[in-house]
Amino acid sequence: MNKLDFITEELEKLKDAGLLINIRTIEGPQGAWITVDEKKVFNLCSNNYLGFANDPQLKSAAQRAIEDYGVGPAAVRTIAGTTTLHKELERKLTLFKGAESTVSFQSGFCANLAVIPAIVGEGDVVFSDELNHASIIDGCRLSRAKIVRYEHCNPKDLQTKISDGKKGRRILIITDGVFSMEGDVAPLPEIVEIAEKFGAIAMVDDAHGEGVLGRGGRGIVDHFNLHGKVDVEVGTMSKAFGVVGGYIAGSKRLTDYLAQKGRPFLFSSAVTAADVAACIAAVDGLIASDSLVKQLWQNTGFFQEKMRRIGFNLGNTKTPITPVMIGDARVAKDFSQRLFVEGIFAQAIGYPTVPIGKARIRIMLSAAHGKDDLTWAIERLEKIGKLLGII
Ligand SMILES: *Cc1c(COP(=O)(O)O)cnc(C)c1O
Repeated sequence: MNKLDFITEELEKLKDAGLLINIRTIEGPQGAWITVDEKKVFNLCSNNYLGFANDPQLKSAAQRAIEDYGVGPAAVRTIAGTTTLHKELERKLTLFKGAESTVSFQSGFCANLAVIPAIVGEGDVVFSDELNHASIIDGCRLSRAKIVRYEHCNPKDLQTKISDGKKGRRILIITDGVFSMEGDVAPLPEIVEIAEKFGAIAMVDDAHGEGVLGRGGRGIVDHFNLHGKVDVEVGTMSKAFGVVGGYIAGSKRLTDYLAQKGRPFLFSSAVTAADVAACIAAVDGLIASDSLVKQLWQNTGFFQEKMRRIGFNLGNTKTPITPVMIGDARVAKDFSQRLFVEGIFAQAIGYPTVPIGKARIRIMLSAAHGKDDLTWAIERLEKIGKLLGII
């Protein structure tokens, strides 16, 4: 017996349950067609909603930034890692989101780990949607606040639990804006109303809403016209914006506070100049034109309407996130494998990313997809769906 034998056993368990993740290797840039494990495939599983991940303007902005600023930040933001580029990105995001202020982080995950423990702690209570993203769950755990899960997108349950719950010093309500595995949209107006009624801090993680929902992709707060009513907005630069990074938008006093208290801001190095410059170019691109956002929604309508008509169960999606519900993790993996053989890259998602028994293929639509390619992909999805008895 070796003291690390448990690792082998755990991996075996995952494999037996069909939950071992097959990590594919991408060769070359992101796009509608990519090379994966030496095979050219139609890409239906990246978060590259607007095609920015390989956009010429973003790339040249990154290249210029390397010339001007070098490659490494060599410091955390609070010591010597804040450049004029970081400040410019925060200014632009503030403008784009229509917020009072913004502070940026290394990723959306870091933003959640930064903000939640900074605003609640022991003796406080967090009410969290049961399907919230893992980074929210981890941020809540780090905070040591009491965590109460409410039913997914159910304001009635939230209201009941808040009314029943032992009152904390502070109350925080957190929801994903767009749920990353379902594609449905949080009932934010109702949540904000409950937050106001109970004096709770309202927080939304808009990772999959930015570049997608709202006017020109300004996100869920804009979509519901709730400007100034959501206390904490979390964002990521890693999805529609096509680069990497995260941020918090809110009041100036919140962002000032997070620059003093958000631990990833203080203890992990700043995002590189190349990344920040590319992020600025992405925000500029969205401010200049909404045509990519419109294209994204056109592709989404086209694809989902056809898939539903064929008989696929796409759950409650209201966004370009398209879960093709399957159930058994092994069948989902088989489906994904067969798609890959046919030239389509769409990964199966199982536990722990989604609950046990709710495995699915998650298809992510993009403005970069062409209509003919989507039609071709739907034909293959139909063929394999029938073969496996899913439709
Ligand atoms: C993807 C995602 C994150 C993490 O964002 P990164 O920038 O990739 O770290 C956080 N929250 C939600 C809801 C997400 O979907």
